[in-house]
Amino acid sequence: MPHADIPAATLFIDGEWRTAAEGGTREIHCPADGTLVATVAEGSRTDAEQAVAAARRAFDEGTWASSSAWDRGDLLLRVADILVRDKADFARAESLDTGKRLVESEFDMDDIAACFRYFGKLAGTDSGRVVDTGSPDAISRVQYEPVGVCGMITPWNFPLLQVAWKVAPAIAAGDTFVLKPSELTPSTAILLMRALTEAGLPAGVGNLVLGTGPEVGSVLAEHPDVDLVSFTGGLHTGRTISALAAPTVKKVALELGGKNPNVVFADADFDTAVDFALTAIFLHSGQVCSAGARLIVQDELHDRLVDEIVRRAERIRIGGPFDDDAETGPLISEAHLRKVEDYVAKSVAEGAVLRTGGARPEGERYAAGHFYLPTVLDEVRQGSYAVTEESFGPVLTVERFTDEDDAVRIANDTHYGLAGAVFTGDPAKAQRVANRLRHGTVWINDFHPYLPQAEWGGFKQSGIGRELGRAGLGEYQEAKHVYQNLRPGPQNWFSG
Ligand code: NAD
Repeated sequence: MPHADIPAATLFIDGEWRTAAEGGTREIHCPADGTLVATVAEGSRTDAEQAVAAARRAFDEGTWASSSAWDRGDLLLRVADILVRDKADFARAESLDTGKRLVESEFDMDDIAACFRYFGKLAGTDSGRVVDTGSPDAISRVQYEPVGVCGMITPWNFPLLQVAWKVAPAIAAGDTFVLKPSELTPSTAILLMRALTEAGLPAGVGNLVLGTGPEVGSVLAEHPDVDLVSFTGGLHTGRTISALAAPTVKKVALELGGKNPNVVFADADFDTAVDFALTAIFLHSGQVCSAGARLIVQDELHDRLVDEIVRRAERIRIGGPFDDDAETGPLISEAHLRKVEDYVAKSVAEGAVLRTGGARPEGERYAAGHFYLPTVLDEVRQGSYAVTEESFGPVLTVERFTDEDDAVRIANDTHYGLAGAVFTGDPAKAQRVANRLRHGTVWINDFHPYLPQAEWGGFKQSGIGRELGRAGLGEYQEAKHVYQNLRPGPQNWFSG
């Protein structure tokens, strides 16, 4: 069923809804069953350049950049209220575009409203500081100023959440922006631009151009009138964007992939470890940048833990966004499904033991969607393809370790450094391991929670810069978020 309220004019430039300058359109199909859900405008370089010009004018004209930070904060709070009011429409649109379960989209909408509320309250609370010059004859202060025009490029896995993490702080700071969401999942970005307009965002401050990365995204990375390009997506695209941005030495923020270790010690609470290992990788069919794709388990627990994970994985119910009994959904596209199939085939060819999954589910219910079974690959070797490449699908790899040092060494043996977890009943060991993991977020006896007030970002090749929270000593320090669950226990996200 199409979105009733998404018309063809879906580019938003200089305060006006427009069709694409060169007439391009794109059909959006639900990944769960192939239903046509919307036909949107597909922009080109021309549209991207017009949007950059509008954002540049709106910034240089000065009224927005010098507006009261409190007023900009109020605008964000109004957006949060609209998101709460229209939660059902947003969640439905997100589920139709991504195929994810409606309950997960609803959950995401709460996070998105919280993000707007957080930055709404933050705006104006920290505008700078007075610095003591040591002399009665001079005064000195540090003040925070907007960067200017921001180009924002976002992925399809949490479409509106990734947009919110960029748009909300940019508005709080007094920047103007051009947003290019993933071409596969544009609907909620369109709804958000309506909400921003309703909340009073001035024309030209926020612009939306739909289209592909090479056509529209590259303009945002290259254009001399863009001051910052902020990108969330895959490592290879991140490298391309860095290269495109280099000639203009613009600021670059990258939130990239991860191959995230989930370290389980033999003294961990067994039911909790099993439950979180499943949620870590099979939530949203593994299409989560911080997914716990690498289970790293202490030797003596290996057989019992993996047997139980396999048993539970085989009971996970797959389905479409509106199937009440579904526990996880489809992959985003046929192309992505083939990538996951290739990843599993290569991993098995190099010696991984396929314990379960490794195929598309059979049956009428799955025929028109991009579904893949929860998959467990055991006995993978450190440094092998299976543990170095991100599959971004429902595929768990299993490695073994002997002791604490061995666990840390294996968990850090990756060029990624986005997130990781440690499960243990020993609180001191938990803290020691968390301190030694070279990953931007570390959970203790938990997996996945993030907080808008805590920094999010990758060490190593998982990114440049941080989103959310407040940066520490700028470029010279990493900010790691360590989150400890003090009352761990199973969540039973997957009921089996
Ligand atoms: P992707 O890199 O293929 O695409 C992301 C965005 O970049 C899309 O909007 C796409 O159109 C655009 N793009 C593609 N080629 C481009 C180019 N040459 N120039 C400019 N823009 C271009 O990633 P994806 O498949 O949409 O998302 C999955 C990836 O995102 C995974 O690797 C995942 O780990 C990562 N991710 C990271 C985070 C994080 O917070 N670190 C969050 C979500 C997703």
